[in-house]
Amino acid sequence: MKYQQDKKYALVTGGNKGIGFAVCQQLLMAGFEVIFTARSLEQAKMAATRLNSLGSQIQVFQMDITDDSSIHSLKENLSQTINHLDVLINNAGVFPDTDDSILTVSRELLQMGMNTNTFGTIHLTQALLPLLEKSSEPRIINVSSERGQLSGLATDVPSYSLSKLALNGATILLAEALQPKGIAVYAVWPGWVRTDMGGDEAPLSPEQGADTIIWLATEASPSLSGKYFYNRQEISYS
Ligand code: NAP
Repeated sequence: MKYQQDKKYALVTGGNKGIGFAVCQQLLMAGFEVIFTARSLEQAKMAATRLNSLGSQIQVFQMDITDDSSIHSLKENLSQTINHLDVLINNAGVFPDTDDSILTVSRELLQMGMNTNTFGTIHLTQALLPLLEKSSEPRIINVSSERGQLSGLATDVPSYSLSKLALNGATILLAEALQPKGIAVYAVWPGWVRTDMGGDEAPLSPEQGADTIIWLATEASPSLSGKYFYNRQEISYS
């Protein structure tokens, strides 16, 4: 991909499957140049091959969001490829809980949720700010969950719930801190979606799960920065 000033660039984390893959598809159809990351470069390339059938060139990079050196490498690679970034979609996430309870969950599982879903998202966002600042209308979209709402916390899903609650807090803080730079930051609950994480019983397709994310990337007013959305409507953090 050769940098061009008039193009719109979007970066999606965890774009190799699930909601992230559907987001990449819809961004391409909306005319974006799409860059996505995956933990496995091989899987990223396979997913890019499927996306290339849409007729666009896609750039992929390996990135593990729990590894700061991996985030740094991505930043270095991107700086050789693009000189602005319009949309960052923080989609990569894990659901660490198995049969856990807040009464028994291990530190290891709590750390896995926080390191991936919250701390990784914050650190990647920090790393990509210089590129976002060069966009004329930069947007950051944090893919959260119903479990991140105060009323959605679940005692049997402690690691995931707490990590998404903290991600929602990070969205509010980032929106406030980035307001002077004109960077909009949103949180979104995609709904219950049929993916490896959501399972076969989920009512929504990945394409339906991607809808509000794409709306935030393309249509939502920057004046809504700091807010939390489901089905294109603002929802309460509580
Ligand atoms: P998914 O199919 O399991 O995909 C998750 C993606 O995140 C994969 O690409 C995965 O990579 C990547 N990932 C996991 N750990 C990572 C790490 N350490 N570094 C970089 N990438 C990592 O799940 P999904 O349902 O599409 O979920 C996407 C987002 O939506 C998540 O943030 C999730 O919490 C949120 N969400 C989903 C639902 C639902 O019902 N599905 C509901 C609410 C919120 P690998 O392929 O290498 O594992």
